[in-house]
Amino acid sequence: ESLQVGELAKKLNKETSEIIKKLMGLGIMATINQELDKEAIELIAADYDVEVEEEIIIDETEFENYEVVDDEKDMQVRPPVVTIMGHVDHGKTTLLDAIRNTKVTAGEAGGITQHIGAYQITNNGKVITFLDTPGHAAFTTMRARGAQVTDITILVVAADDGVMPQTVEAINHAKAAEVPIIVAVNKMDKEAANPDRVMQELTEHGLVSEAWGGDTIFVNVSAIKGDGIDDLLEMINLVSEVEELKANPNRTAIGTVIEAQLDKGRGSVATLLVQSGTLKVGDPIVVGHTFGRVRAMVNDLGRRVKSVGPSTPVEITGLNDVPQAGDQFMVFADEKKARQVGESRSKKQQDAQRKESSKLNLDDLFNQIKEGDIKEINVIIKGDVQGSVEALAGSLQKIDVAGVKVKIIHSGVGAINEYDIMLASASNAIVIGFNVRPDNGAKRTADAEKVDVRLHRIIYNVIEEIESAMKGMLDPEY
Ligand code: GDP
Repeated sequence: ESLQVGELAKKLNKETSEIIKKLMGLGIMATINQELDKEAIELIAADYDVEVEEEIIIDETEFENYEVVDDEKDMQVRPPVVTIMGHVDHGKTTLLDAIRNTKVTAGEAGGITQHIGAYQITNNGKVITFLDTPGHAAFTTMRARGAQVTDITILVVAADDGVMPQTVEAINHAKAAEVPIIVAVNKMDKEAANPDRVMQELTEHGLVSEAWGGDTIFVNVSAIKGDGIDDLLEMINLVSEVEELKANPNRTAIGTVIEAQLDKGRGSVATLLVQSGTLKVGDPIVVGHTFGRVRAMVNDLGRRVKSVGPSTPVEITGLNDVPQAGDQFMVFADEKKARQVGESRSKKQQDAQRKESSKLNLDDLFNQIKEGDIKEINVIIKGDVQGSVEALAGSLQKIDVAGVKVKIIHSGVGAINEYDIMLASASNAIVIGFNVRPDNGAKRTADAEKVDVRLHRIIYNVIEEIESAMKGMLDPEY
């Protein structure tokens, strides 16, 4: 709203004295620190043919505490969002497929199943949303980013195998998030199935079945044969009624990114889960540190849709960059504000990352390690899909050469862009492109900033290269 004379001069790229002279001409006697009102600013700016754009004060809390309070009378029942967790090989994927295949039926003919990270089914007239990235990696990533999307967890335990380490992890995750658990005892078709043992073992982890006087729902299923699926879905409906899940569909949409990636043809593609409000094509939107306008929306059956309400997953295009799973999104009334909030958030993130990172000179990596100057090698990873980025990050972080380790200061999906290079430059990091290349701006900047960019297609090669550099055995690049 107001600006000091000195600040205005800086913004206009003029000498302060010149501005003061102009102000005098307008009958305003001013000093360098004097606050100017909007009218005076506009007069001066107009004199230089500069248009004044009012800086919108961004209320970050509006975005971060995005659980906007709605009036109780506006709240309507919404579908539950269900995550399936459990030990590896206990049948999570099979169960997700079985549910989808049995329930997406005749009425949906013509639709082609799309894996967008979540899907919806209808059971007895009631819609249920499933996140179809099984396992608790997705669940944890989202929670770490402050996103709570799951209403109900299905804990899959194989009846022939019982409680295993990841079963316990899954229980702990769900408990920490205070998400109700329904136990699906799977593989009941198997000879060695022993559901009583599963019940017994889970008792030790605080999950006592109703049959034994507790309050945890157990359902016996065979994902492969499709047995017990209806019972399981009934139980989901029951729990969701108890939970009284509600949202206000008549407001601008807010929610969370389920997954996102760079598509060769369509650009940035993100699956969003609408948590409140209704998302429409054309909406100006901020998604994590990206922004844009919703260009097109495609649902889990590959159909184009114009608007979607609470608990619905939808794939959107139209963002300026690729957001990350767990990022929150918010629709704004106008595009200009969305852009400003998006840019401000993007800048804040860059600043934060710059501050976090420590100095490292790559040319002299081995010598610096020898001299004990560095204990960490900063690395930025960009890749084509989130999965390989995570896998690569995991592998690199395990490298340990004489106590020196790799620190991933930034990672993401998409082409290497200028921002990655600037971040690398500011923090002396190497940039690794995994199945992606630098865009034109990034190439120029990397040359100018002398940032080391390495492109790879095989994880093993990346690891070998970094290890060699750390050991001082890297062949010089000519
Ligand atoms: P996930 O790692 O938990 O996703 O497990 P999967 O769904 O990939 O299943 C692991 C293995 O168990 C696969 O070979 C499945 O065919 C098998 N499986 C899954 N559900 C059942 C079931 O109900 N009965 C039997 N017999 N095998 C199953």
